[in-house]
Amino acid sequence: MKLSRREFSRLIAMTGAMTALGTLPGVGATIAEAQSESPASGRKFRWGIVGLGRISMGHFMPGVELSKTGKITALVSGHREKAEKQAAMYNVPSPSIYSYDNFDEIRQNKDIDAVYIALPNSMHAEYTIRAAKAGKHVLCEKPMATSVADCRAMIEACRKNHVKLMIAYRCQYNPVHLKAIELIRTGQIGQVQTIESAFGFPIQAGEWRLNKKLAGGGPLMDVGIYSLNACRYLTGEEPGDIKANASTIDQDGRFTEVEENDAWTMKFPSGILASCTTTYGGDTGGGGFFKVHGSKGWIAMEPAFPYQGKHLTAHVAGGQDIDMPGPDKDPADFVRQADHLAECVWENKEPKTPGEEGLRDISLMSQIYAAAGLRGL
Ligand code: NAD
Repeated sequence: MKLSRREFSRLIAMTGAMTALGTLPGVGATIAEAQSESPASGRKFRWGIVGLGRISMGHFMPGVELSKTGKITALVSGHREKAEKQAAMYNVPSPSIYSYDNFDEIRQNKDIDAVYIALPNSMHAEYTIRAAKAGKHVLCEKPMATSVADCRAMIEACRKNHVKLMIAYRCQYNPVHLKAIELIRTGQIGQVQTIESAFGFPIQAGEWRLNKKLAGGGPLMDVGIYSLNACRYLTGEEPGDIKANASTIDQDGRFTEVEENDAWTMKFPSGILASCTTTYGGDTGGGGFFKVHGSKGWIAMEPAFPYQGKHLTAHVAGGQDIDMPGPDKDPADFVRQADHLAECVWENKEPKTPGEEGLRDISLMSQIYAAAGLRGL
């Protein structure tokens, strides 16, 4: 079989991603399976990718290629050359490459079912609302937005235009996280009493994440949100009584606009207490952790939030020890999200992590900032 240069690049990209997923050998069979069409619609779920950065090019786009349901049919980028290279890899036709200026023309493109928004945080609202007005379903990266008002406007725009809005909380679709939730819900560690969680990394200077206007805040917005969201899905409760602190230790020019560290505690209605920290100055072991202490046992996940290698251990009622390393290879978390939104659209179901879920976290982060003496969101 003779391949054109474009087909060859695409095959290389897909093969790399499949090797990462552990689906080789049997490349031929895997590609055929990845391209199989949805029994529901008889065709693939067609994605427009908005923002060609690390998460979209390195994780979500390879994830779509490996998904049962999806294919990439459009790209939106401010960098035409970069977009053309990606277009060649994923077989996206040139007229389906958009800039931020002509983005609204996606309305006329019947080959786009949904968009994946992977832009700096403060841009999520504008592109979600424009996508909704163009009649496209939306998978929006976390954090949903940089203000409570923006979250509400995004939900309203999607409601009004009858499109689905899903927030990309990948851990809520991950089997190891789901196992932790099941252990708690089935009473295997008794009554949960306390939770600890942390996630952070030493940030490089020059990142948009350090720009308050684009990021909305410091590590809480970017990675602290994983601990906050985990405390909520592990307990199944909504927290109140938030106490918090924020600090900046390193005066090296990185933290002129956003804080370096946040710590907060939350009390849940049952009385469960959670204590979380997040940092842009320190290392939390590459992927963060959580520990849940119950009356009859405990659960620990460390690392808890990386793209692969999540590791659950537990000591449950009856004295049994559980050791469950997550078998996934990146981009499996992203494959599941792509398939979930497609299923929700085809079966007209509400996504498991809808806009309202994103809004709850933004509203709680606003309270955390206010409790730390900073401006709320
Ligand atoms: P990135 O910097 O690698 O990519 C951002 C993209 O936005 C780039 O393509 C950039 O060109 C584009 N962009 C457009 N306007 C811009 C502007 N004014 N300033 C800077 N960039 C601009 O960022 P990323 O790490 O891919 O993060 C993108 C989003 O995805 C963020 O909201 C982030 O929180 C989220 N994210 C989620 C996960 C996850 O695991 N779910 C992981 C990383 C990032």
